[in-house]
Amino acid sequence: MPPTPTRPPHYAELCGLLKEAATLGSIGSLLGWDQETYMPPAAAGHRAQQQALVAGLVHERQSSPRVGELLQACEADPALRQDPAAAANLREMRRDYDRATKVPTDLVAELARTGSLAQEAWKDARARNDFPAFAPWLTKMMTLSRRKADCLAPGSPEPYDALLDEYEPGMTAKEIAAVFAPLRDRLAQLIGRVRASGRTPDQSVLKIRTDPQQQHRFGELVLKAMGFDLSAGRLDVTTHPFCSGMAPGDTRLTTRYTGEGFLEPLYGTMHEGGHGLYEQGLPKADHFGEPLGEAISLGIHESQSRMWENFVGRGRAFWEWALPEARRLLGPALEPVTVDAVYAAANTVRPSFIRVESDESTYNLHIMLRFEIERALISGDLRADDLPGVWNERFESYLGLKVPDDRRGCLQDVHWSFGLVGYFPTYTLGNLYAAQLWEMINRQLPGLESDIRRGELIPLRDWLRANIHAHGKRYRAAELCQRVTGRPLSSDPLLRHLESRLAPVYGL
Ligand code: ZN
Repeated sequence: MPPTPTRPPHYAELCGLLKEAATLGSIGSLLGWDQETYMPPAAAGHRAQQQALVAGLVHERQSSPRVGELLQACEADPALRQDPAAAANLREMRRDYDRATKVPTDLVAELARTGSLAQEAWKDARARNDFPAFAPWLTKMMTLSRRKADCLAPGSPEPYDALLDEYEPGMTAKEIAAVFAPLRDRLAQLIGRVRASGRTPDQSVLKIRTDPQQQHRFGELVLKAMGFDLSAGRLDVTTHPFCSGMAPGDTRLTTRYTGEGFLEPLYGTMHEGGHGLYEQGLPKADHFGEPLGEAISLGIHESQSRMWENFVGRGRAFWEWALPEARRLLGPALEPVTVDAVYAAANTVRPSFIRVESDESTYNLHIMLRFEIERALISGDLRADDLPGVWNERFESYLGLKVPDDRRGCLQDVHWSFGLVGYFPTYTLGNLYAAQLWEMINRQLPGLESDIRRGELIPLRDWLRANIHAHGKRYRAAELCQRVTGRPLSSDPLLRHLESRLAPVYGL
């Protein structure tokens, strides 16, 4: 998508100001990446000052009255309204501007201040397994989040939507609930069948020790095969893997090499690689700083990472190509390993109390539980004091496990302590979008499975680039899903995918 050939002066000035803000933002991203990778610990104090200064400058530009004036002038310009690319840009610029200006500065400051105290209280409470100590802080953060929602969408019957909108623009709690409910019931049944099978796949593949430097080479080899451009990006090592698509030509990935096993680190790399391919595929050269150069939503972003990690990386076809490569790079420890063994280890169901330790299937139940609870906390249907009881009861009904204590229950995640509400559902939305896209991709690229078996992953990347990445924020997630797959989001493709993956492992 080339930029509009003759941009009227008010539109050109608006895009110029937002590009300047994004350029400042990219300096902040670079500082953040450095902080996680190579920064010496003693630099932390000054780095915090640098980050605060840059963040302030970015916010000042994004919310400046001049941006508001230009936006109004552009919205009144019929030529821009009729140009679909400009109209999409303006729709999303308006959303961003309203979000940046509708919440009063004192509420923003109070959320930040109370959030950092609540986070400390949460750490303490989790360590001591003391929910009552955290409950008043949770109440405060939910009250403040509710106030924020009321500023963003006064009088809304579902205040949660305004919070969700930050991560998944245009999506509503009602729409999510309609897709999650059938997924929850059928997933719980599927996991019941897995349990009833009485089978426990051999997990010894997960414990094979190999050299981290060789794992890094293997990860880079897979990234190259995926079509990730390492001359426009890097792969480094951090405690928590992430992807930062900070600027045109600069997408940074990180991964980690844990004490044992080569599978989880590879999946970390492929996951972040999927995010990275999205960032590299966005039309940033022409549209940096504009919505047309940005990702649609966290759910769509996550669909890209989950597709490479789960749909490609946990499939048998992938390992037919990748296992010989892994043996070549990781050495004799992998000699006895078979494709079947890797497949079974990569597709094992491990119901767990802890979300971040759970597998591809049960993960979604963890997310649905959190979505239902945070929605009720914001609406006022659930009081913070009653959280543990509701959590434990639902957890048992969804996953069949009795929660032994709050540390392994409602105190495990940091999110709510600093007011991150509306974020959790995007993880499962990512799985759902990935599954629905995957079915359409396989219809349109009938040779995909045999391409993957030969390590030819570029056709998949090119499909994603043309159908998802190149559009930037031109379409909202629901509209893109409808355009690309011909249907609204449904839980059926994900269930079909999980059933077909687990059937051979558990003899279902
Ligand atoms: Zn991710």
